[in-house]
Amino acid sequence: MTEHHHEHRNAYEPDCIFCKIAEGSIPSRKVYGDDEIYAFHDISPWAPVHFLMIPKRHVPSMAQVRPEDAGLLGRMLALAPKLALEQGCNPYPEGGFRIVINTGAEGGQEVHHLHLHVIGGARPWLKG
Ligand code: C5P
Repeated sequence: MTEHHHEHRNAYEPDCIFCKIAEGSIPSRKVYGDDEIYAFHDISPWAPVHFLMIPKRHVPSMAQVRPEDAGLLGRMLALAPKLALEQGCNPYPEGGFRIVINTGAEGGQEVHHLHLHVIGGARPWLKG
């Protein structure tokens, strides 16, 4: 992938696996969906609860986020606790969850469509 590719902020990026998941052309186990956000279970979970939250619009990573994305990111973060409880995370403070956003190669990002990992349901779960 080129740097140019990583700068794209289009409504839909045809080569992007998470764009295809958001539109339904690649199947996923749905957790939540609305006009701008989609959430689905990670295919390779790190813990009993592990789902991903993505904007339906293609944003490659946190590195491309702009001030006008603050509302969308805020809505994603504000929705995460409700979904975490619905998916089986235990209540705060004994339970809880972790939200991770890997960004770029040195941040451990493998899929270049912005996604929040929401992880919980048991401890210990974090491998690195
Ligand atoms: O943050 P990072 O880019 O490394 O995470 C990508 C995540 O997307 C991985 O946890 C992987 O299991 C998940 N994935 C998925 N469904 C796919 C492809 C990747 O849940 N079809």
